[in-house]
Amino acid sequence: MAGAWPGVIEAHRNRLSCVTTDTPVVTLLEGGTPLIPAPRLARRLGDHVDLYLKHEGLNPTASFKDRGMTVAVSKALERGATAGICASTGNTSASAAAYCARAGIQCAVIIPGGKIAQGKLAQVLRHGAKVFAVQGNFDAALRMVRAICSRTQVALLNSLNPDRIEGQKTAAFEVCDSLGRAPDYHALPVGNAGNITSYWKGYREYHASGQIAALPVMLGFQAAGAAPIVEDRIVENPETVATAIRIGNPARREEATRARDESGGLIQSVTDEEILAAYQLLASTEGIFAEPASAATVAGLCKLAAAGFFESSCGRRGRTVVVGVLTGHGLKDPETALRVDGGVIDVPDSVDAVLEFLQLPERPTTGAAARAEDHCDSKTN
Ligand SMILES: *Cc1c(COP(=O)(O)O)cnc(C)c1O
Repeated sequence: MAGAWPGVIEAHRNRLSCVTTDTPVVTLLEGGTPLIPAPRLARRLGDHVDLYLKHEGLNPTASFKDRGMTVAVSKALERGATAGICASTGNTSASAAAYCARAGIQCAVIIPGGKIAQGKLAQVLRHGAKVFAVQGNFDAALRMVRAICSRTQVALLNSLNPDRIEGQKTAAFEVCDSLGRAPDYHALPVGNAGNITSYWKGYREYHASGQIAALPVMLGFQAAGAAPIVEDRIVENPETVATAIRIGNPARREEATRARDESGGLIQSVTDEEILAAYQLLASTEGIFAEPASAATVAGLCKLAAAGFFESSCGRRGRTVVVGVLTGHGLKDPETALRVDGGVIDVPDSVDAVLEFLQLPERPTTGAAARAEDHCDSKTN
């Protein structure tokens, strides 16, 4: 596409049948996120694996929710809505609040009290939404939202809203456009299951219209303490460090299992320990900071690789192409970032004390390296 990125609706308008010329486009120029090669992590999956990470944390409110929200809020405005509402584990509310502000309509969000990462709460408050914290978990908050929607005129902005799915499916188009094909495997975290539903819809549409020759195998990952699809039950008290997927009764459970089964894929669980290990590994070996729920993608891929999953896999010309979605940015959840290992080292104000902790090569005193211009001696810094 020539020129500046125009946002999800304009970039993908011909594939968004719900958007018409009458739809007022509410956009923050979301989408168009990079598909970043991750060669160090790929090596852990196998010599024949090429891994790419779709960094959805680089959207305007720092999660993939913006893709669905631009469509949902635009359609709500078209229908005359003056307010939007959602239940949220955090990112949906941050996105809803921002897009409602952009549209000039009221926003209300219901969150599970004490379980929202600080960055997300900061966003939703500053965008001017009315925020209600309830005692119950996400599932209870969503039940309240549905009840409120049945009694009042307010736009439902959860992923039960099909306009959200439409917007989110565009990420699958972008993956295929970047690769020039579909990946062999597509990995992502699964919470309320809107995103796996969206990606699968996007891939199938691209396949049906001949843009891609084959469909990917879908690999979904839930947190072990919140794995209702893996365990095929309702989890009454879901618990996980990955608060964005702390959901016990996914609204799109059926669509998620269909995506899994139609693609010949799987939905498995990863423990909080595995999630946090992957979270650190991703940030420290690839330089990519994603929130814990997103790290479930990486944890799941590492776990499958350790069990030999990719050994028998084969793609074209002997290479296996894996795409993992990083659903939200690491800065969303500073508490978790600061809580895990590797804190600040307190030292006396002495150069030697600092050097004791670092293995740095000695600086040469003669030769070209010593003469080379460098900025250590310069007064301006
Ligand atoms: C919303 C969210 C998820 C889960 O997506 P679902 O569509 O609910 O399955 C995962 N990670 C992050 C960062 C999210 O914000």
